[in-house]
Amino acid sequence: MTRNTSDHDSKEQIDFFRKICNERGIKVTPQRLEIFLETVRSRDHPSAEDVYDRVKTRLPTISLDTVYRTLATFERCGLVVKVQFLEDRLRFDTNLEAHHHLFCTDCKNVVDFSWPEFDSLALPQEVAEWGLPESKQVSIRGKCRSCVRKHEGK
Ligand SMILES: [Zn+2]
Ligand SMILES: [Zn+2]
Repeated sequence: MTRNTSDHDSKEQIDFFRKICNERGIKVTPQRLEIFLETVRSRDHPSAEDVYDRVKTRLPTISLDTVYRTLATFERCGLVVKVQFLEDRLRFDTNLEAHHHLFCTDCKNVVDFSWPEFDSLALPQEVAEWGLPESKQVSIRGKCRSCVRKHEGK
């Protein structure tokens, strides 16, 4: 699944951001907008530390704590989704469409993939008995091709 980062898309992202903030009564500050756009642009499911490293040249007065709090606010508003894999840091995803993840246990890269057949599968009876499911997402762990090659190349 690819999303391009043309100016057109970025304008759409800004409109989307303003709309959600208005609905939730959150003030649109240049700082928040910058953090949001950086997270969208990154596409690698960045952690708060990653976002901080990438915005601090443009926002010299920002602190890591502010980035944490801003991302937590975004998460409550549904602008980003928390993603966490075992043994990895908490990360943020701005891909709000139904998708699944490939997680490399070596380089920790996360890649989105779509699986419409899975999305349309009916849930097993046990799940209905268990309660009320809200979402289903697959995480596949393993080694990405470049990490496999690195090991073979030795
Ligand atoms: Zn890898
Ligand atoms: Zn994702």
